Amino acid sequence: MMTGNSRRGFFRELASVVASAREATEPPTPQQPLDLTDAEVERYSRQLVLPEWGAAAQLAVTEASVLVIGAGALGAPVALYLAGAGVGRIGILDDDEVELSNLHRQLLHFTPDIGAPKAESAAAKLRYLNPDVVVEPYHVRATAENAAALVEGQDLVVDCSDSFATRYAINAACCAARVRLVEAGVLGLAGLVMSIKPGRTACYRCAFPVEPVGAPRCADAGVLGPAAGVIGSLQALEALKLLTGVAPAIADGFLQVDLATAEFLRVNVSRRPDCADCSDL
Ligand SMILES: [Zn+2]
Repeated sequence: MMTGNSRRGFFRELASVVASAREATEPPTPQQPLDLTDAEVERYSRQLVLPEWGAAAQLAVTEASVLVIGAGALGAPVALYLAGAGVGRIGILDDDEVELSNLHRQLLHFTPDIGAPKAESAAAKLRYLNPDVVVEPYHVRATAENAAALVEGQDLVVDCSDSFATRYAINAACCAARVRLVEAGVLGLAGLVMSIKPGRTACYRCAFPVEPVGAPRCADAGVLGPAAGVIGSLQALEALKLLTGVAPAIADGFLQVDLATAEFLRVNVSRRPDCADCSDL
């Protein structure tokens, strides 16, 4: 049986082997060495050993600053997985307070949190999960007025809001600032996920030029907790793909997920030359 020390040694050696294998096959690029503590090597060992991940991907997430908009049903799995993976700085934004009706699907909040600001409640759990991550809670609502300031300086934005107005505002701001974005929505037993690289791939408005009229809301139509968990997990995966390049993101299209029939449909989308948000990029 491996002792703690020999296990750490094993993972450290493995990480170093992966790093040198990458160096041998890729052109050398100037980058700072990944200097992980023993605890970090152990914490991230199961992703470090992935051939697709390794030291370069870990460095990319460690240096990343990601804004998660919404600390609800989608924001919970997104923020948990990003904190778990070691994203260096996570901003989590929500202007709501925790309600009893949130708890069946919003896994960052527990019964004693009812009445607390969701951003603070979420930040507390994320710090418990990974104290090495800098977590910044924002108890505000994302609007067309503050969207540009919110996305400024971020490496990536993950939109976990439940409002079309917010989605369009964040899409426009991310396009203008050329900040990568992962959009998603979930309702009932269905959802969709879309990654956006502004100026390079179709944006949310390219896919959905106008806001749907009379779209049902979560409070009216309902949603099952695990359905939100699936869509939020896909969104977290897209975020890690965009940050590290370990696999192609769902870009120039979106993934439509029907969890009632277990059907995943990839819908291709092209950039629109008349898109109000991205045509001039
Ligand atoms: Zn567009």
